[in-house]
Amino acid sequence: MRASFLLKQGEVEVREIATPELDADEVLIKVAAVGVCGSDTHYYQHGKIGPYVVEKPMILGHEASGTIVAVGSGVDESRIGRRVSIEPQRPCRNCKQCNEGRYNLCPNMEFYATPPIDGAFAEFVKIQSEFAFDIPDNVSFEAAALIEPLSVGIWAAKRAEIGSGSRVLIAGAGPIGIIMAQTATALGASEVIVTDISDDRRAFALQWGATKVLDPRTDQIEGLEVDAFIDASGVAQAVVQGIKAVGPAGRVILVGMGNDDVSLPVSYIQNKEIWVSGVFRYANTWPTGIEMVASGKVNLDVLVSHKFGLDEVEQALTSARLPGAMKAIVQPQA
Ligand SMILES: [Zn+2]
Ligand SMILES: [Zn+2]
Repeated sequence: MRASFLLKQGEVEVREIATPELDADEVLIKVAAVGVCGSDTHYYQHGKIGPYVVEKPMILGHEASGTIVAVGSGVDESRIGRRVSIEPQRPCRNCKQCNEGRYNLCPNMEFYATPPIDGAFAEFVKIQSEFAFDIPDNVSFEAAALIEPLSVGIWAAKRAEIGSGSRVLIAGAGPIGIIMAQTATALGASEVIVTDISDDRRAFALQWGATKVLDPRTDQIEGLEVDAFIDASGVAQAVVQGIKAVGPAGRVILVGMGNDDVSLPVSYIQNKEIWVSGVFRYANTWPTGIEMVASGKVNLDVLVSHKFGLDEVEQALTSARLPGAMKAIVQPQA
């Protein structure tokens, strides 16, 4: 099969390699669509993310969908031909975190496109059968791939305790910010305020999930007294501004990546007993995500702004610079 490898920082090459061999509990998937994530671009530009370093050629891409074309000896053959969305992780199921239901924090996790595990910019991938989720006919392959970032939104919303009547502030109207806004609305939030410095992105947010948009440079953000603040910008000022918009006993969830160290308004957090948490991927979110998309509560297709073939992965990884860029999709069969 053909697969696109990141050889090292800034160098991508399509290579011919053997199709993956299946373990008994795995399925082989002909990949239809793969979303390009900020983390893929980061590996391309820097060759690492924090402690994860690309030391040998690796296939990027972890937001993937496709069709099952073969199954391992322990998997029912009726799965062949199913259109699926891939949850791109393999926890050990045998450690403290796994046993307590937080398998996303499993220290033995094997996750697509996190060194040394290969990702999905390839004609075929394998995954354990239980991590390949059937999708209904009305869910496109592109949307099925983007259930991965939607899962980040669902997990963050859960940790933020967003529910019926919640007032939510989201910083950043990129793909995750828009997904967060749609997720909050789907979960019954009564007010979803999205901030971004870009006029175009604010307009897009207002169309897809936000009830109100604000420009953080000129509009008053502090003192909004929201129930939850989600940072999807990774910008230090936005984090501090957003925390100061949270009311008593509110929640702050840091999703955006940018500065590793940010100084926090500690006395504000103390005086209002605010909860601050990060999110690391997700656990058990696919059924909810598929239901949200299939029912039309969340629209992921509107995020897709550009499409590329397997030979164009390098353009896809740098496409965030293109005008109107939101989410790029790689189609390995194209
Ligand atoms: Zn991602
Ligand atoms: Zn584990």
